[in-house]
Amino acid sequence: MLIFRKPIEGIERPQMPADAVIVGGGPAGMACALRLSQLIDAHNVKNSDSQLSKENIYVLEKAREIGQHCLSGALLDPRSMRELLPGFEQEAPLDAEVGKEAVYFLTKKGKLKLPITPPPLRDHGNYVISLNRFVKWLGGKVEQTGITIFTGFAGSELLFDGDRVTGVRTDDKGVDKQGRPKSNFEPGYDLHAKVVILAEGPRGSLAKQLINKFDLAKDANPQTYGVGVKELWEVPSGRIAAGEVMYTLGWPLTSKEYGGAWIYGSKDNIVSLGFVIGLDYPDPRLDPQHVLQEFKKHPFVGKLLEGGKMIRYGAKAMPYGGWWAVPPVAGSGWMLVGDSAGFVNSARLKGIHLAIKSGMLAAEAAFEALSKGDTSAATLSEYQKKVERSWIKDELWKVRNMHQGFEHGLYAGMFHAALQFVTGGHGLHNRYPGKAGHEHMRKLAVLPPHGGSEEAHLLGPAKGDGKLTFDKLTDLYHSGTKHEEDQPAHLVIHDTNICEQRCVKEYGSPCQNFCPANVYEMLDDASTPNGKRISLNPSNCVHCKTCDIADPYQIITWVPPEGGGGPNYDGM
Ligand code: SF4
Repeated sequence: MLIFRKPIEGIERPQMPADAVIVGGGPAGMACALRLSQLIDAHNVKNSDSQLSKENIYVLEKAREIGQHCLSGALLDPRSMRELLPGFEQEAPLDAEVGKEAVYFLTKKGKLKLPITPPPLRDHGNYVISLNRFVKWLGGKVEQTGITIFTGFAGSELLFDGDRVTGVRTDDKGVDKQGRPKSNFEPGYDLHAKVVILAEGPRGSLAKQLINKFDLAKDANPQTYGVGVKELWEVPSGRIAAGEVMYTLGWPLTSKEYGGAWIYGSKDNIVSLGFVIGLDYPDPRLDPQHVLQEFKKHPFVGKLLEGGKMIRYGAKAMPYGGWWAVPPVAGSGWMLVGDSAGFVNSARLKGIHLAIKSGMLAAEAAFEALSKGDTSAATLSEYQKKVERSWIKDELWKVRNMHQGFEHGLYAGMFHAALQFVTGGHGLHNRYPGKAGHEHMRKLAVLPPHGGSEEAHLLGPAKGDGKLTFDKLTDLYHSGTKHEEDQPAHLVIHDTNICEQRCVKEYGSPCQNFCPANVYEMLDDASTPNGKRISLNPSNCVHCKTCDIADPYQIITWVPPEGGGGPNYDGM
């Protein structure tokens, strides 16, 4: 029987008061902490008789080290960093300034360069970075301020008093596979905070609790996501210049799937390449890791990588839904920032600059609220207003209907995208409706070879040749993922009967395909009605959140494993 992770009940937990708790030490969380510190410093300089302290401001980060779980392409639009730390370019780890970019449409063997680069993909002036190294650097800045970063601590539950968020419970440590305390058991802390800022990245587990509890998304479009699967390569010199950026559309996806690839040249002959696929594809047998492997077989890509070596692998979801899918971002005792709120410009494939800006604005609202001694919904809603008055809204408003325009495939999507571009994001309607991605998944009975007429492609797992292409386990090895083995599964399946009795027949168990880390397996078991039993390898999990998003029955909940576990995205 599968035992799932949850906080142990009925035990005494250490209680800690806090002014502000920031959950998540990615770009949004670190920018928030840094801005809060700047505001407190500025106040203290002006008010020697009423000094404010940073002692009770905490950042919780589930990774063992700062930046270890951070993965992105990544290109940094420097706009928000210039506001946060003017002159940051002098000391930040920026690998190369973008000097050349191109967009290609791929067929199986050929490529067509678009005569002009669409404006959203013009990247001159942006920087190729490793988000992992960049966040490590930003985290170092936060540590210098005196704000405490608790690494290896995940937020496992929100604490409530009525409709007010009053704090965060951190994860219990030392719990065995059966859910029993081990000899090294340490209960999680209850951090009682005046304000909690959720900066957990895409599909945050606490953000999901909050959004569901208060039905926050009721007036928003359903959030939609893509999953980016990435490899880092070291290639022979001269293949690609540092700062050269390429995007591709088309093959190996069909016109029914939304997505494309990126190739970024970094310093020291390092190439970041990856494929982002909208998690609203129809065929449950599609495997995003396989798509990336197939992409590398294209002569254009194969030639670039030939003689090179894959050195890192990882995957992460990103929110695609745009402005109309952003829920209210502030309430009584809480705020949502960065990817947790949905601040990503999917047309530009960028969110780091928005994460940083939203973190800064939340810090300003938190500072004002803490100074007044009032962190009620009315006061914290100032953050919502700040977002709406800022360039976050200006940028996202122009692409507010972008992803919904692709609901009926690539060609209709390109028509809508062009129309939206010339109408400032309006297109055919001010607000295009949207559907949650999993609702697009179709049952096997209506797909080839059982039914339907579409061409079936890229079905099932990749095999890999071990040089250019890799199977999932080989790729996974390069993610550096480690977890404490003796702990309950952190992928909570609310009803495994659905997996074994319905999903296996209706959808062919797509969890085995969409998980880029081989966590889900359907094992032969003659005692079950369809001869299959679900089995989990949670210690493989790279924390991408795809299963929580893409499962067609919505019965999987990702909860944080014991703090410190997860991938090691060194240099990613
Ligand atoms: Fe991603 Fe879920 Fe697989 Fe973990 S189990 S790697 S979150 S799809």
